[in-house]
Amino acid sequence: MKQTNISVFVPHTGCPHRCTFCDQRTISGEVKAPTADEVRSLLREQVPVLREHDTRAEIAFFGGSFTGIAHGYMVSLLEAAHEAVMAHPDVYCGIRCSTRPDFIDEETLDVLCSYGMTAVELGAQSMNDNVLRLNERGHTAHDVETAAAMIKQRELSLGLQMMTGLYGDKPEYCVQTAERFIALGADTVRIYPTVILAGTRLGELYESGEYRTFTFGETVELCAGLLRMFDKAHIPVIRLGLHASKDVEAKMLGGVYHPALREIVESRVFYEEMLEEMKRLGGHRFTVYTDPTNISKIVGQRKENKEKLNANGFDFVIKTEQGTRLRIENAL
Ligand code: SF4
Repeated sequence: MKQTNISVFVPHTGCPHRCTFCDQRTISGEVKAPTADEVRSLLREQVPVLREHDTRAEIAFFGGSFTGIAHGYMVSLLEAAHEAVMAHPDVYCGIRCSTRPDFIDEETLDVLCSYGMTAVELGAQSMNDNVLRLNERGHTAHDVETAAAMIKQRELSLGLQMMTGLYGDKPEYCVQTAERFIALGADTVRIYPTVILAGTRLGELYESGEYRTFTFGETVELCAGLLRMFDKAHIPVIRLGLHASKDVEAKMLGGVYHPALREIVESRVFYEEMLEEMKRLGGHRFTVYTDPTNISKIVGQRKENKEKLNANGFDFVIKTEQGTRLRIENAL
């Protein structure tokens, strides 16, 4: 059976912060916060659709700082979600939310758990305190560690979200952030390369020339390394890059945004792994075995991987092998 999220966007409501990168209404693509009855209707409507597609769903409150919204409103949304889980356990298998690390405490977790919350994602963004300060996050890396420990203690699934290329950021800080996420026992991770939006503090800094983010190439290389780190730690990266959105495209001044970003980064991972393995095996001609679903990523966009490996003195043919991710042998 497949699994998905039914996302309910709760935009910016209750957030007293103005992080340098955030224009919450643009990112969520919504202006109005949904009522509990609207959530009930949405969840009811989705039941036959999910059944038809043999899919179970988690109800996901995303978009802002869920535990920072008005308490009564948060509880009303939780009630609506909890009712749906109780009424349709064959379809709805849990509730998740995203929030700020400093909006988590034991009382809040008591409330979330009483309505059957299964996963909490923290917008950590960076584990470098200077990057957090420069981007006016209003919390520290220590706050992330404290909140993460509380979430793990409740045996909730811990999601950690990071950004790359913020004001003051460096690739090595992102790698250190990933190392800290792994040490904290993240169950899932999301990676968001910075997109610079008009109307934000980052937008001003960018236009004044005071800030540049990582280039597209730097981001692909960095994110490939991050994917490999999380993969080695068996932590699924459940999102890489912002969802495609006309609102974001219309307000974007700079940064890294590409509808196929994940595919491009995964292709880079294949390139790095093939290069390492071919060097290890020695020789110049190889057979690469892989599942048919990986072929485009192995070859690379516009055959980029093949050409780069050729430039390193390596050539290969691909043979399909169901279920194999990557296996390389010297060609006879
Ligand atoms: S805390 Fe979240 S919602 Fe609030 S300004 Fe920062 S990024 Fe936006």
